[in-house]
Amino acid sequence: MNIQHFEDLPLSLEVMKSIKELGFIRPSPIQAQAIIPMLEGKDVIGQAQTGTGKTAAFGIPMIERLNPEGNSVQGLILEPTRELAIQVAEHISQLSKYTPFKILPIYGGEPIQKQIRNLNQGVHIVVGTPGRIIDHLKRRTLNLASVKIVVLDEADRMLDMGFIHDIEYILSKAPMNRQTSLFSATIDDSVMNICNNYMKNPEKIFVSKDEIALTQINQYYLVVNPKNKFEVLCSILDENHIKRAIIFCKTRRGTSRLANMLSARGYDAKPFHAGFTQSQRNLVVNSFRKRRIKLLVATDVASRGLDIQEITHIINYDIPLNALVYFHRIGRTARMGRGGTAISLVGYGELPQFNNIKTLTKTTIEELESMHLVI
Ligand code: AMP
Repeated sequence: MNIQHFEDLPLSLEVMKSIKELGFIRPSPIQAQAIIPMLEGKDVIGQAQTGTGKTAAFGIPMIERLNPEGNSVQGLILEPTRELAIQVAEHISQLSKYTPFKILPIYGGEPIQKQIRNLNQGVHIVVGTPGRIIDHLKRRTLNLASVKIVVLDEADRMLDMGFIHDIEYILSKAPMNRQTSLFSATIDDSVMNICNNYMKNPEKIFVSKDEIALTQINQYYLVVNPKNKFEVLCSILDENHIKRAIIFCKTRRGTSRLANMLSARGYDAKPFHAGFTQSQRNLVVNSFRKRRIKLLVATDVASRGLDIQEITHIINYDIPLNALVYFHRIGRTARMGRGGTAISLVGYGELPQFNNIKTLTKTTIEELESMHLVI
């Protein structure tokens, strides 16, 4: 069946109401393909990255299939990072707003006692990072005996981060007759191994975001004297309609320095890097999300998996190491069909590195002669 509208899916009134409230009009391709098999209880492998709507693709069937009565954990979603655990838990809470489900993110860096208290109050869906989930399993503060649905989200990243044994341990604590789904941007042999070992006749769904999203991003670059980079950046910020931007830097120090320089010039800018504590990070991300700050000056590590809507511009203050990082960065804009602009400030010394990236991309990166872009 060709699913064009959410009304084409057999969803409850409660879930439909929250979908409407979130402003979703049409199911994204991964949602159109994954929701029905998952509602039918099938195992699903989804090749899809952040920005394709995959969270709702597994979140909606999970809410529909689980039973809100009782207070045991029935749904488990594994995520590679705390930011993703928080984001996904938030998104599923929005989707289940009109149901009695309780959703809890569990991640390292937050006091464990607080999580234990929340778990004791009864939780239906846990969204967590492997390390902290194991911690709770060993303390017996989390019991997976009633789990009916497991989702391994961003499986390739979890494997890259060395979580394979943790994942195996966690899966061994969930009942065999559960439903298991896996989502991953890339499906290589190690990901397929998990599918073969832990899933039953999985249905495979492939969705490529790259072609869709990248063509919606206007990509520009400007070759500059490195000494003038800051001034050029300020002109770009002044001359363009920038509602919300992420400015990428190479190092933590560079990030803090640039954020300070921008603040001193009167711009709403905050640094964001992996040297921050979890609560500092949450604070910055929340202010950015709630539009209290306009410019996030970030390193690549910190920005991984950040999903914030309506980022109008990505500015590469330092050129990324390779094309993959470049795509990751510019993919923070143009979420779910909205356009975006990416501008790279290429210092003379960075030209070879940038040319390398340029030749590897299939899309066009247009050279600008001046920073008065009017975009
Ligand atoms: P995800 O790929 O799950 O990280 O989703 C990316 C963003 O797209 C999230 O912020 C969602 O709120 C949004 N989104 C998900 N599904 C839809 C949809 N069908 N229509 C519009 N936006 C959506």
